[in-house]
Amino acid sequence: MGEPTGAAEGVPIAVRPDPSRDDGRRPVAWLRITAPPSWSVTPSARSWCTCGYERHAIGRAAALQLIAAHGEHRTACPLLNPVSEGRTAA
Ligand SMILES: [Zn+2]
Repeated sequence: MGEPTGAAEGVPIAVRPDPSRDDGRRPVAWLRITAPPSWSVTPSARSWCTCGYERHAIGRAAALQLIAAHGEHRTACPLLNPVSEGRTAA
């Protein structure tokens, strides 16, 4: 008989940082998503970072927003993007 196919419609199961850019730094930001293969179960997601950033999301739409926010944080996080310049422009 038929198998359930609902899980294939754009549900992010896992999002990993780009493995090709491993330059020796330790990962400081994590993203975990729980997306059961059933539309009757509400997915949830958690994003947290060593710098103190932490977010929770309940629901598919909220989880997708959290994923986007997590990506933005990776570009804005002071730990992932340390300021190497010792001087600031006045
Ligand atoms: Zn951070």
